[in-house]
Amino acid sequence: MAQADRVMAKTYLRQPVVITRGEGTTVWDADGKAYTDFVAGIAVCNLGHAHPRVVKALCDQAGRLFHVSNLYYTQPQTELATWLVDHSFADRVFFCNSGAEANEAAIKLARRYFHERAERRHRIVCAEKSFHGRTMATLSATGQDKIKTGFQPVLDGFDFVPFNDIAAMKRAVTGETCAVLLEPIQGEGGIRLPEPGYLQAVRELCDQAGILLIFDEIQTGIGRTGKLFAYEHYGVSPDIMSLAKALANGLPIGAMLAREAVAQAFGPGAHATTFGGTPVVTAAALETLRVLTEEGVIDKAAETGRYFMSRLRELKDRHASIVAVRGVGLMIGMEMNAPAAPLVAAGLDRGFLVNCIQETVLRFAPPLVVERAAIDRLVDCLDGLLAGEEDRAQ
Ligand code: PLP
Repeated sequence: MAQADRVMAKTYLRQPVVITRGEGTTVWDADGKAYTDFVAGIAVCNLGHAHPRVVKALCDQAGRLFHVSNLYYTQPQTELATWLVDHSFADRVFFCNSGAEANEAAIKLARRYFHERAERRHRIVCAEKSFHGRTMATLSATGQDKIKTGFQPVLDGFDFVPFNDIAAMKRAVTGETCAVLLEPIQGEGGIRLPEPGYLQAVRELCDQAGILLIFDEIQTGIGRTGKLFAYEHYGVSPDIMSLAKALANGLPIGAMLAREAVAQAFGPGAHATTFGGTPVVTAAALETLRVLTEEGVIDKAAETGRYFMSRLRELKDRHASIVAVRGVGLMIGMEMNAPAAPLVAAGLDRGFLVNCIQETVLRFAPPLVVERAAIDRLVDCLDGLLAGEEDRAQ
């Protein structure tokens, strides 16, 4: 840890633990201590760690072919794109390597679409408290000042409105607007859900204005909310969608999906990336998606999520320090009335990985295969920690 702190860029505040191994929902540190993982690499390892089928797909492909670039066709990439097209609203897929890159592609495609139609529309309406990434375009699209501090001037062309405020969005859409970009459920902003009817109203607004709807499903996608994509909960589909995080269960991948008419705006040379959709990563992603659907993992996530939320609501009834419990599926936040970092540290001590967003929100994003017994152990641990805090406060 001391060596890492000397040589690594200081962009992360890390927990004082070296993780060396993982299996299912458990990881172990260098001293052999076990932790139950409620972070899952920040909503990434949806099948848990070292899933045997994903490991096998990865190793088989690694022994055959790592990489050839997108100058050639490869089978795993084509099969993955086909799977995604078959299971979503989209007709075409662009592969990249991260969430920010998937959003970059989405932003560029939206602008290019109107350029091809000779319409002067380039502005994108985004939500306050949103998070879309750390590259210059995606931090410009992010509705949190702290992400932009020190990097101004940010890219022009992004307008911000409060999430769930359709009237504000109507006012923000002008003749220069090309798209609305939203997370269907805000993740990093504190696990914030759309109010009933909001996403439908946004879709109608986009249709009336003739502009594109982009959903950032980087955190909500791939089963996290108990559906393959969160948009399925709301009966609203976008024109463009970005994916990353859980798509390959931990290998770096991003994807931008679009309807045919929109995707047409990206011809050869319009956009590219050397590693996008490389065979090893796409083989792992394809197997991840097959396991998720064949083994009923997504339905289980919906059911386990309901159980988890009910246990957390019981906890809220017992502890005044819990302000709110919010979530869908296994994307859950518990807002506290004070900074939650001490709970993260105390949880680590007791063998749980949890993390904290927006200072006061504990975020739970375990592997979707998490068992009820693990949830019970975490809730009991939190119960004890909160009772201890209350005793000390008296
Ligand atoms: N969009 C959302 C909704 C995210 O939650 C994240 C990451 O947390 C990103 C974009 C950025 O993804 P990445 O860190 O892979 O660039």
